Amino acid sequence: MSTLVLASHNAHKLEELRRILGPLIPGIELVGYEGPEPVENGLSFEENALLKARAAAAHTGLPAIADDSGIAVEVLGGCPGIFSARWGGPERDDRTNVDLLLWQLTDVADEHRSAGFVCAAALALPDADGRRGDEVCELGVWRGSVLREPRGEGGFGYDPVFRPEGEERSAAELDAAEKDALSHRTRAFTALAPEIRARIG
Ligand code: IMP
Repeated sequence: MSTLVLASHNAHKLEELRRILGPLIPGIELVGYEGPEPVENGLSFEENALLKARAAAAHTGLPAIADDSGIAVEVLGGCPGIFSARWGGPERDDRTNVDLLLWQLTDVADEHRSAGFVCAAALALPDADGRRGDEVCELGVWRGSVLREPRGEGGFGYDPVFRPEGEERSAAELDAAEKDALSHRTRAFTALAPEIRARIG
């Protein structure tokens, strides 16, 4: 059994990724990470995911994966984007973030409210000489639009105001299995899985 580190202190993310990735990478055990986390000063989802994976691989000496995600709204030029978690302020509050986004889109007609949840999934391998090892990153996008008010009790973050393409419900009204089948994280990590298998195992 090989070991793969998930570069996140979030137990829910570990659970979610075990669910998504587990069947795609048999014989590889995904474990949590307690080490230092880098400053996320990248200028894209890919750069931030790679920063996190690289830091965990260097600290543990094991292959590591990480993700970075957010919502990109077309009429806002792709914002909140990499600033999604702190769009409404440094307290990183979901409700404040959503309220600010809805207020900014008040006068935007329904047909111009296109958006996508975006996830970058990165894999970094440690390098024995302390140099940067092999690394790869894949992007997953879940398209939809921004609703006019929050709907549903499930999910987190922007789920209550995101209506996936082809759905009448918000992402917060889908159950976990329905969301797993469609989400940006599933798309990104499904694309990353063959890269993981090719390097580890
Ligand atoms: P991070 O990738 O953990 O830094 O999260 C970025 C932010 O993007 C989160 O705080 C959420 O606001 C938002 N976000 C990312 N994925 C989702 C999702 O699946 N549903 C709702 N919001 C999300």
